[in-house]
Amino acid sequence: MSVKSAPSKETLEKIIEKIPTPFHLYSEERLLKQVRGFLNAFSWNKKFKEYYAVKACPTPAILKILKDEGCGVDCASECELMLAEAMGFKGDEIMFSSNETPKGEFAYAARLGAIINLDDYTLIDSLVLEGGVPERVCMRYNPGGEFKLGTSVMGNPGDAKYGMTREQLTLAVKKLMKMGVKEFALHAFLASNTTDNTYYPTMARILMTVAKEIKEELGAKIFMINLSGGVGIPYRPEENEADIYAIGEGVKKAYEEICVPSGMQDIKIASELGRYITGPTGWLVTCAIHEKHTHKEYIGVDACAADLMRPAMYGAYHHITVAGKENAENTKVYDVVGSLCENNDKFAVDRPLPEIEMGDILVIHDTGAHGRAMGYNYNGRLRSAEVLLKQNGEFELIRRAETPRDYFATLDFTHVLDDVLPKA
Ligand SMILES: *Cc1c(COP(=O)(O)O)cnc(C)c1O
Repeated sequence: MSVKSAPSKETLEKIIEKIPTPFHLYSEERLLKQVRGFLNAFSWNKKFKEYYAVKACPTPAILKILKDEGCGVDCASECELMLAEAMGFKGDEIMFSSNETPKGEFAYAARLGAIINLDDYTLIDSLVLEGGVPERVCMRYNPGGEFKLGTSVMGNPGDAKYGMTREQLTLAVKKLMKMGVKEFALHAFLASNTTDNTYYPTMARILMTVAKEIKEELGAKIFMINLSGGVGIPYRPEENEADIYAIGEGVKKAYEEICVPSGMQDIKIASELGRYITGPTGWLVTCAIHEKHTHKEYIGVDACAADLMRPAMYGAYHHITVAGKENAENTKVYDVVGSLCENNDKFAVDRPLPEIEMGDILVIHDTGAHGRAMGYNYNGRLRSAEVLLKQNGEFELIRRAETPRDYFATLDFTHVLDDVLPKA
């Protein structure tokens, strides 16, 4: 069981007085708890680094908090690199994990001194052409087949577009060593959103074993094992949380059994978590504005899938509470819907909830990762604001909501719209 808490109705009402719904709200206190707990679980590794996966919440105020806690960033595109640079992340505080990398991005990553996570053997030439020969390269491994933990199948790396085969890793290291690369790291991403405590330890063993082989076969120096993302969160209250201390201990055991005896005791362990770090620290706050009683019972809210795409895209569950009615009985069954002209614009389907009145504040939980970040403008809907609830109880608007001017900003005829658009 996991506890689903949210800021109180009083706190939400205080914010709504200043900032209209819908908005994404983040808790600094919860964010610090997530990141500090995780770093603590890996403090046995002196060089440990969490490279926060920027894509999960590319919001400067959030990145600033994580930077102050000692995190780096994992970027995958030019704009994510720009954000990292603007936030003051430097050199090996940045991982660049792109795939199908567009022209020019390796050059930029190299200029920043980022650690490049090479997705494929065939990218070596463009990497070197654009950015010269780096001192260090990380390589993304795809073992293929099915990835199992115990008896459960966690994913199908063989179907995933990422990473290189085991044979290609050897070829890549040979080629890069010949070009002058001095040190290597290994990376893999084999399961998504798993709270199974054996995930990281199992993958650590796989990567450490390959590292040992490559070291022994080719004499390559391996400086880092990057466990990437994938540690999950319980979206449903009945699910369990990941035990990060058990995870940290499991990886330590793999390190002691594989790295230490093979002379890799000074290796750095790294992670690139996104969801685990910010997912539970955010809520989408929205108001009930319509009710509809047809073949089903509908509650219409002022947020829509353009603010949070996961339910529409994956049928993902997000817990919903009604502010002030947290302890009320679930006497109703609703579909909670947004306004998009798409029938999948439903935050919840057949969800038992307390009776909802118009004007009630609905809190959609665990939206701090892949929430605002996956927002879009379909149907001419504008993306919401982001608000940070600070440890001292104050709140701050950290990104304003989009306006119609933002929506039309890429067009040449904004002047034609001048009479139509609200004055700035
Ligand atoms: C998405 C991604 C992550 C973060 O994944 P989470 O599931 O949010 O932890 C880390 N590394 C890479 C390369 C990714 O693409």
